[in-house]
Amino acid sequence: MTLQSVLDDLRKLPGTGEVIPIIDPATEETITEFTDCGPEAVDAAVARARAAFESGVWHGLPGRERAKIMWRIADLMDERAEELAQLDSLNTGMPLAQARMIVPTCAEFFRYYAGWCTKVNGTAHDVQMTGGISGAYANMHAYTLKEPYGVVGLIFPWNGPVFNACAKLAPALAAGCSMIVKPAEETPLSALVLDRIIAEAGVPEGVVNLLNGYGHTAGAALTAHPGVDKIAFTGSTEVGKEIVRASAGNLKKVMLELGGKSPVLIYDDADLDMAIMMAAMGIFVHSGQGCVCGSRIFVQRGVYERVVEGITTVANNLKLGGPKDEGAMISPLISAKQLTRVMGYIDEGKRDGVEVVTGGHRLDRPGYFVHPTVLTNVDPATSRLYKEEIFGPVVTILPFDDDDEAVALANDTTYGLAATAWTTNLSRAHRIAKRLQAGTVTLNCQLVFDHAVPFGGYKQSGWGHEFGREGIEAYMQTKSVWAQL
Ligand code: NAD
Repeated sequence: MTLQSVLDDLRKLPGTGEVIPIIDPATEETITEFTDCGPEAVDAAVARARAAFESGVWHGLPGRERAKIMWRIADLMDERAEELAQLDSLNTGMPLAQARMIVPTCAEFFRYYAGWCTKVNGTAHDVQMTGGISGAYANMHAYTLKEPYGVVGLIFPWNGPVFNACAKLAPALAAGCSMIVKPAEETPLSALVLDRIIAEAGVPEGVVNLLNGYGHTAGAALTAHPGVDKIAFTGSTEVGKEIVRASAGNLKKVMLELGGKSPVLIYDDADLDMAIMMAAMGIFVHSGQGCVCGSRIFVQRGVYERVVEGITTVANNLKLGGPKDEGAMISPLISAKQLTRVMGYIDEGKRDGVEVVTGGHRLDRPGYFVHPTVLTNVDPATSRLYKEEIFGPVVTILPFDDDDEAVALANDTTYGLAATAWTTNLSRAHRIAKRLQAGTVTLNCQLVFDHAVPFGGYKQSGWGHEFGREGIEAYMQTKSVWAQL
């Protein structure tokens, strides 16, 4: 398929709602559009998914057969990796080289979870209460079964379209669920190709159902739908709370991967060159539009000036640009809405007396580009930009004196997605790791990921885990079976 044919196919998708334009964030030009699927399409998708689940056409297959089909998905993704990378690059404005690095990792989700298809088992239990509650039974036996939840809704954001889709599709398929997939309205392009790959690989009809539409229409209808058993959501904490409320009707299960305001601690004994470079990239990569971006940096006082200067130098040397701009390293923000939001936080900070060391303005060119921004002199007690997730290339840097102060500052947030410490004192690194209130702690590294390592948020950064064994178990429920022998 050519890129143009994907753009044309999106335009032709049936729908009954509003027409939604797809904007190239690097040029602000409209590249295509589609029609919001409308409520009837949500009902129809849930009905198809339910029928597929009840028929057992997918979860009834032996695990090894599901695994083969999942390997085929990964192989087809590899064959079409360039097309997927180009679509994500066009749709998000991310450098093509970055998209080309990400897509193979996404295919690996299917290979990794294909392995789990044959390895998730229940357990047999040694029953201690031999008489049972009534005392009437002897020789009891109990075991558990791991069963797919049923029909699950997968809802995810725009910041890594192929990655976000595969992170949910692969474990949900491995678990044997049927699913309705709702990508972000800003980035529907690569999901269209993935949907075809999944069908071509042999996943039976009705198991995976793609819906395109706004969050407040298609997403909300899916979340409230009585025919959906579980929602797996990645997105903002604010929408996560709406999803919890909307799910209450049928008490559907909910998994949430939400926002963050992740702290990075840099000690005076750290490898400072490395810490400065990684802490800078840890916030400015993809213009700060990553859930684990380290948006609050704390530096031990003795090296504070040096680190502020170092991060500022990196910020000033990063070349921003879209896929067509030679040598671009940093993508634009996704939308005009996001640009207004990010600039709103910066302007409010300026009014409050925050010091703008560098950045603080958008670039004088088309596209939603904000210069990487370093802020100091921030009041942790009152500053909104310090407390709230901005999801932009904006970092605050504050000094600290000792471990207790560093941990107190790091943990003083309603979020708990990720945290980092840079120090060559390994005892301290592990002591600090225990004290940081975050689902992922990285020591002397940032932006790390593996399919096998569980990922999830503490506090208001989420419920449940993705990746690893926890990732497939998130799509399965446990049944206990008792028998009198
Ligand atoms: P968002 O919450 O606005 O939207 C995410 C998805 O939810 C989109 O598909 C959207 O259409 C849908 N949605 C919106 N309103 C809805 C509703 N009422 N009901 C159902 N669905 C609805 O998030 P965003 O602005 O697109 O993405 C950025 C956010 O995502 C940031 O907060 C970021 O931290 C978070 N994020 C978290 C992770 C993680 O793994 N923890 C990963 C990536 C992004």
